[in-house]
Amino acid sequence: MANPGRDYYEQLGVGREASADEIKAAYRRLAMQFHPDRNPNDPTAEQKFKEISEAYHVLGDADRRTQYDRYGRMQPGQMPDFIDVSEMFDSVLGDLLSSFTPFGRSRRNVGQDKRIEVSLSLVEAARGVEKTLEYERAAPCDHCSGRGGEPGSASDPCGGCGGSGEVRYQQGLFRLSRACAKCEGRGVIPRTPCTACNGVGLAKKNEKLVLSFPAGVEDGTVRHVRSYGDASRMTGASGDLEIIVKIAAHPLFSREGADLLCVVPVSFPQAALGGMIDVPTLDGRVKMRLPPGTQPGHQLRMRGKGLPRFGGYAAGDQLVTIQVEVPSEVSDEQRALIERLAVTMKEDLQPQQKTFLEKLKDLFGS
Ligand SMILES: [Zn+2]
Ligand SMILES: [Zn+2]
Repeated sequence: MANPGRDYYEQLGVGREASADEIKAAYRRLAMQFHPDRNPNDPTAEQKFKEISEAYHVLGDADRRTQYDRYGRMQPGQMPDFIDVSEMFDSVLGDLLSSFTPFGRSRRNVGQDKRIEVSLSLVEAARGVEKTLEYERAAPCDHCSGRGGEPGSASDPCGGCGGSGEVRYQQGLFRLSRACAKCEGRGVIPRTPCTACNGVGLAKKNEKLVLSFPAGVEDGTVRHVRSYGDASRMTGASGDLEIIVKIAAHPLFSREGADLLCVVPVSFPQAALGGMIDVPTLDGRVKMRLPPGTQPGHQLRMRGKGLPRFGGYAAGDQLVTIQVEVPSEVSDEQRALIERLAVTMKEDLQPQQKTFLEKLKDLFGS
């Protein structure tokens, strides 16, 4: 039984002035969080779930809410015999509970949802691509059309559920229903089980599905395809298929939203003198002018050379970060040249060096 001390509004985390929609939304959120299917073997969650369901049973109904506002909680004698949780769930949570079995009556007869991943290259993601996905799912057995009985054999009504396929039971205040275990919810028991599937009614089937992914699709995007998941043993109706987009790492590019990032290493003389450098783009290699005196970390922006964006916005940019590479080994000739450069540069300080030396002098004296 729910905690008698707590206020229903408090339990749903809403104010006394909350609108019907706010109450519904609060219940929806909490019910998803504390649903027993999501918290197996957690009696605290189950208790909490019952409490919020009771609170919603009252506050979710205009008459009961007025009654509660006026007189407070019903006394034990006035309590209803049961709350039909299945009904409440169908109206409040509907499709959200597609995979929850004990409560969602309307969706219970649908098979499991399936998740698969599809791997796209960065170029495919940038341009958009059509992919043929192949995967295995449980589909109704062809031989018995999913009925589980050998074709032509008779079947008897199930004794466990009286042929309804459903067993109702009461748990405290709650009336629940579940599929009959004896007949798997079919309501009938075939006299001869199907020889192809041993009476299961399902068979593994390879599916092919062609899906197109739009230009600019992002890593982690989930595509939802109805009724391409596993079929239910009871009804043959299929759950849904979720396709998760994984974009493979690119050897040169990384991605930040619609922008493409790459690093181009150049030598010190190139950075100092400037010149033409090779820069990769998604369309191939291009030449770019590196301005003389380019500093390490400098970023060149190539407008519109990134990935497309949805909703009519301009495409992203490509950002080229210049990395100045200092030689780790030098030849004798190079050493001599660099030494000569060092001597000439001592008299010709760079702006940043100059500022630094001045600050050093201010702090510590010359
Ligand atoms: Zn079969
Ligand atoms: Zn049955």
